[in-house]
Amino acid sequence: MPFDWNYVISLFTDVAFWQASWTVVQLSVTTWLLGIVAGFVLALGKQSGNSVIRGAAGLYIWFFRSLPLLVLLIFIYNVPQVFPSTSGWLGNPFVAGLIALVLSEAAYTAEIHRGGLLAVAKGQLEAGKALGIRYVGIQRLIVVPQAFRIALPTLINEYITIVKLTSLVSVISLAEILLVGERLYTQNFLILETLTAVACYYVLIVTVFGFLLKALERKLDIARRQPGIADPIAVSGAQVSTRKALELEHKGEYALELLNGRKSYGPNEVIKGVSLRVKWGEVISIIGPSGSGKTTLIRCLNGLETLNKGEVLLQGAPFLSGIESREKGGAVKQHLDRIVHVGMVFQGFNLIAHRTVLDNVMMAPLYHQHDSREAIRLLSLAMLTKVGLAEHAYKYPHQLSGGQQQRVAIARALAMRPAVMLFDEPTSALDPELVHEVLKVITQLAEEGMTMVIVTHEMNFAFGVCDRIVYMESGEVLHDAPPQTLLKGTDSARLQKFMEGVKIAA
Ligand code: ADP
Ligand code: MG
Repeated sequence: MPFDWNYVISLFTDVAFWQASWTVVQLSVTTWLLGIVAGFVLALGKQSGNSVIRGAAGLYIWFFRSLPLLVLLIFIYNVPQVFPSTSGWLGNPFVAGLIALVLSEAAYTAEIHRGGLLAVAKGQLEAGKALGIRYVGIQRLIVVPQAFRIALPTLINEYITIVKLTSLVSVISLAEILLVGERLYTQNFLILETLTAVACYYVLIVTVFGFLLKALERKLDIARRQPGIADPIAVSGAQVSTRKALELEHKGEYALELLNGRKSYGPNEVIKGVSLRVKWGEVISIIGPSGSGKTTLIRCLNGLETLNKGEVLLQGAPFLSGIESREKGGAVKQHLDRIVHVGMVFQGFNLIAHRTVLDNVMMAPLYHQHDSREAIRLLSLAMLTKVGLAEHAYKYPHQLSGGQQQRVAIARALAMRPAVMLFDEPTSALDPELVHEVLKVITQLAEEGMTMVIVTHEMNFAFGVCDRIVYMESGEVLHDAPPQTLLKGTDSARLQKFMEGVKIAA
């Protein structure tokens, strides 16, 4: 019997096939979307600090990846035999098929998401934490959008797999493409012809959706975005509010106090009973050799690292306490409530990569509902004007130089109206010619009376701008004095050696 091409062509106008294609589209898209959401929850569960949640998520993934989909489909479709009350909805092959597909897909997508989650840079999360954004907010604003972009190519591949898996749902007599084909060839025996049409319908769906999803992937690709143009009117209006924005309430004598702080990594104590009192308006540099504990110290001041012992007071009130001396719960709440008053600038900038410059600055004040959106926009533009970057407001971080990114990071911290700003080597990741523009901004803040603690290797800056220099070595503060005192000469051979070759501008 020759291959009947005319019959194949006639099948492309067959209403039953088009209806079945629509069913496949509905089933596959719904499975994909629900699978993505459920998989994300599972992936978070698998990373949870709680071992019960982690175990449950791991068990789910293991079980549903081991179970053949066909078995699961038939099982779910037959659940009403044992629980007749479920027949209302599980009796519907579309619903039963959807449930089985989602249960199984969630296990696969969880692993895809886990790859995406692991690839989100740690600095992005730390930036969120330092801005006082809580777990769910960090997931929503930072992690989900970034992890989703990273995972998208694999998720698109998974969609194609799902389209093909829907053919299995024919076993529970859902009228999808394969079943419509089977019904035809069991009557006319034109098996090859019918299956050719069946194959064409699947290929068509995969091609159309593959194309649409690729377009989505391109749209979400930040590297392809054109830099936006800033609105000059909004920028000039923003300058007015700059002064008002930095008026801060001074509570207590000190902005920030660390009392006898101790921090260990395992058996290795890296902060050995350090006390540091920062007066309002004071600018303090922390200097010292690499590995002396400067980064750890500054991170303990805003809770990015937990102290083992000791206390941090902010604006004269308890803020953080050592894990060995704290009352649980209360201490965590204090920290979350008050961290918004501490601005942090990281060595690696840590701007949120998928958001524009302006969005980076607006994100935390919006999250904390500091003001109306418009007021926050003006304040953020004002802070960008202050660091000389208002015209770059609609660019993405990767479209800026390192020096510009760091100035955005400063503007972002300022937009929270912090009581104190912490800097961890803000210029160490920059090319030498860009160091100056960042130091200029920090110097300007110092002149305006901003309270700051700055870990730095820029000796001219430290000795020229700061009120006090704290010299650390092996987790201890060896010197804590105004620059003039240290410049007059110290009896410390070690500090002299550290400052050797450093030319301090008079
Ligand atoms: P600095 O910033 O002065 O170069 P750090 O604060 O980064 O020094 O490091 C101080 C000490 O703590 C170093 O000995 C370092 O190896 C150790 N350290 C820092 N971070 C960690 C960590 N996450 N786990 C274990 N040890 C760490
Ligand atoms: Mg460091």
